[in-house]
Amino acid sequence: MGNKTRFYVDIMATHPEVTGSCMLVIVKYPDGNATRFIVDCGLFQEREYSEYNESFPFDAENVKFCLITHNHIDHIGRLPLLTKNGFRGKIYSTVATDIFSGPALMDSYSVLKDLSKRNHTKQLYSEADVANTRSLFKACEYGKTIDIEENIKVTFLQNGHLVGAALILVQITYPGEEDINLLFTGDYNNQNMFFDVPAIPEWVRELPLTIVQEATYGTMNSTDEKVCFERNILKCIESGGSAVCMVFSLGRSQEILYVLKKLQDSGELSMSVPIYFDGKLGQRYTNIYLEQKLGLKAEMQDFLPANLTFVDKATRFDVLYGQEQKIIVTTSGMGTYGPAQLYIPEYITRKNCLLHFTGYTAEGTLGSKLKNTELNENVMIGSIVRKKRAKVEYTTEFSAHAKADEMIEFLKQFDNIRLILVNHGETETKTLFSERIVDELDPKCVGILNREYFFRIGPYGLIRQLSTKFH
Ligand SMILES: [Zn+2]
Ligand SMILES: [Zn+2]
Repeated sequence: MGNKTRFYVDIMATHPEVTGSCMLVIVKYPDGNATRFIVDCGLFQEREYSEYNESFPFDAENVKFCLITHNHIDHIGRLPLLTKNGFRGKIYSTVATDIFSGPALMDSYSVLKDLSKRNHTKQLYSEADVANTRSLFKACEYGKTIDIEENIKVTFLQNGHLVGAALILVQITYPGEEDINLLFTGDYNNQNMFFDVPAIPEWVRELPLTIVQEATYGTMNSTDEKVCFERNILKCIESGGSAVCMVFSLGRSQEILYVLKKLQDSGELSMSVPIYFDGKLGQRYTNIYLEQKLGLKAEMQDFLPANLTFVDKATRFDVLYGQEQKIIVTTSGMGTYGPAQLYIPEYITRKNCLLHFTGYTAEGTLGSKLKNTELNENVMIGSIVRKKRAKVEYTTEFSAHAKADEMIEFLKQFDNIRLILVNHGETETKTLFSERIVDELDPKCVGILNREYFFRIGPYGLIRQLSTKFH
C-alpha cells in the first residue's frame, strides 16, 4: 500500500436521523499518527433514540477537540457528558455560540434534572460538568482561519440558520500529499431575518471538497411553504380573541416579536393589544440580542414591539387567567416544556382564541398531538382532559432550514465537489434528497450518513464505505 491510501479520514455519524447530532472524524496520517475530533455533540430528542443519550460509541478521552456548528441543544446538549467522560480538549465555536451556550447548557441541565426526578432515573451529568464544559470553549471569529494543530486548519463561515450558526471548513494537510478538505453545513439556511448572510468566499468555492450536507427539509421545496402567520393573528385579534404563539427560545422568539412589531408599525395591529413574552431562557436570549454586538442588521437593534411585558413567575397567573384580549408569545416551540405547558391547556378551551405553532413539531410532542385533534374533540394533556375549542394553526414560514431546492442551489456554487455526504434528516428524506442531488448535480459520489456505515475519504474523495461497530 502506497502513501496515497495511508492519508485519509474516516467520517462517521453517531446519530441515525435528526437529533443527537455528533460526527466522529478520525484523521490518519502517512507517518502512522492519528487525530480524532468530533463535530457537534447533541442530545437525542426523538423518544426512540433516547437510550443513545447515556453513552458515546467512542472513547471521549481520545477526542482531541470538538467543533460546534450552532447553539441548538440537539447539537450541543451532550457536551457536559463528554467532559464527564474524560474529554479535555478545546471546544471551538463562533463568538455568539460561545455566549449563548452558557444559558443553553444550564437550562438543559435543569430540564434533565426535572425529568430524571420525575422518572426516577439517574442524571446524565452534574452542574460541575456544565461549568467544566464551559471552561473548554474557545470563541472564533467568522472567516478567520485558525490553526488547530500542525496539520489541521478550521474556518467558521456565517450561516443563516441562527445567530452564531456556522458552516465549518476543515482543511487537513500533510507534506507531499494533496489536502483533504471537509465542509460541514451544520443546520443550514441561506437567509435570516436578523442579519445578512454573506456569500461563500471564492477561495472556499474553488477548493476540492467533501461536503457534509444537512437534509432536514430534503423533500420540501421553498414554494411549498404556507405563509399564514400574520393573517391568522390579525383575524384572531379582529374577532376579539387572544392568541398564544409557541416559539423556540433562540431565534424564533425574537423573530415573532419582530413580526408583531412590524404589524404594529404598519397599523394593522393596534398597539393597545398587550403583548406578553413568557419563558426565562427566551427572555435571556432576547436580552443578549439587545445588549451584545452580534452583527445584527441596523434596523434590528430595536426589534421589540410596543406594549410588551416580560412575564415572570409573579405575574404569570394574571396573564394566564385574565380574560382581556392579548397576544402571548411563549416557549417551548413544540408546547411540551416551559410556560406553554400552562397556556395551552387554558387557552385551548377558549372558543375565540388561537394557538399558533411557529415551527417544526416533532412526533410525540403536544404540538403534534393537537394537530390530530378535531375542533370540539377532547384531548388529553398530561392526565387532564380538555375540550379543544380554540383554533390551532401551524406554519413553516419561519423555518431556519433551507428547503431542498435551496440546498441544491447552495451545492451548485462549489466548483470541485469530490463527495457529498447527506446528513441530519429522517431516513427516507435523506434517501430521496440524495437521489435528487444525483439527478440535478450529477456529482461524482453521494453517500448517506447514518449509524451503520462510515466513509473513508482521501484527497481525491471516497475510498470506500465500511460498517461501523455502533450497533
Ligand atoms: Zn439547529
Ligand atoms: Zn439540527
